[in-house]
Amino acid sequence: MDLAQLEDVLAARGEPRFRAAQVWSWAARGAPGYASMTNVPRTLRDALTADLPFSTLDVVTEARSKDGTVKTLFHTADAHPVEAVLMRYRDGRRSVCVSSQSGCPLTCTFCATGQMRFGRNLTASEILDQVLHFRRLEDVDHVVFMGMGEPMMNVEPVVEAALRLPDVGVTHRRTTVSTVGWLPGLSRFVAEVTVPVRLAISVHAADPVLRRELMPVEDRYPLADVLAVCRGHWERTRRRVFVEYVMLAGVNDRPEQARLLARALGRDAFKVNLIPYNPTGPYEGSSRAAIDAFKAELDRARVPTTVRLTRGRDIAAACGQLAARPRTTARPAARLGQSSTD
Ligand code: SAH
Repeated sequence: MDLAQLEDVLAARGEPRFRAAQVWSWAARGAPGYASMTNVPRTLRDALTADLPFSTLDVVTEARSKDGTVKTLFHTADAHPVEAVLMRYRDGRRSVCVSSQSGCPLTCTFCATGQMRFGRNLTASEILDQVLHFRRLEDVDHVVFMGMGEPMMNVEPVVEAALRLPDVGVTHRRTTVSTVGWLPGLSRFVAEVTVPVRLAISVHAADPVLRRELMPVEDRYPLADVLAVCRGHWERTRRRVFVEYVMLAGVNDRPEQARLLARALGRDAFKVNLIPYNPTGPYEGSSRAAIDAFKAELDRARVPTTVRLTRGRDIAAACGQLAARPRTTARPAARLGQSSTD
């Protein structure tokens, strides 16, 4: 729900100050609507039902993957598309991937979101409502800001949303914000956020010439500067920064490119997450053998490295595939009341 508007509605009715926190706490714990907020007076519940939409987002379609992943397409009140993904893992983990913008103004060549029209920044409430949608289905314990958009271009609402997540049951340590390294926002984030929220940086190539081809943002904010800021974050918080590296066959997956990456990162401040490429167009994903060989080089250089588990590819819900094309990938929401899911 729109938390600023909630405050306004309550103030206009002369309600005591604690009401906003009371209403938020119900919503954060997955209440289905105002009606179930039993410690809020009935007349106020009725007034809120009439005056304030319970969510800032409307569900348009929902798609379910064979692996249990659910992708939901929402519309904001002004009809901008937003996608979010619930990932269910075998160990019981429930992770929600949220969007921070409708579309994305950046144009990374391997990412489908960059191909769609950029809409606008989302508000903190619109980000939280993506999480609450899934929280109403089941408990959620991780949130990653890895959906549509560049979080550090919308840093204030992203931080505001991240700081409220513990109310929803997601600790700071289980919250990750991913960025291309948009320096103005990243520098503010690093300076202002003292809680242990995890940072992730999309690197994808250590060589500046190749990185510029894949991610035009390299021109503006070179990786070397970005890594220096990340290192500062690690020095202050002692939380390793995750490095995302999507594996593109014959492009960035050669052993010498792994060695270059290892040199750029060093052993202490970073942890690499190799991402199998999810088809979105122009590239071929690296083979499993190439990914293993790349990882072996990083292991040899003692850079901690894992390979990301791919989820939801069959419903275009995997990394880089969010592009709000509901008709080709999703089923009508009405059919989905039955269940949920990575
Ligand atoms: N703009 C931020 C947040 C999005 S995170 C960022 O780029 O970090 C989405 C992650 O998925 C990023 O690491 C991105 O580089 C990666 N990604 C994009 N397209 C992909 C694809 N086709 N296959 C696999 N990963 C992809």
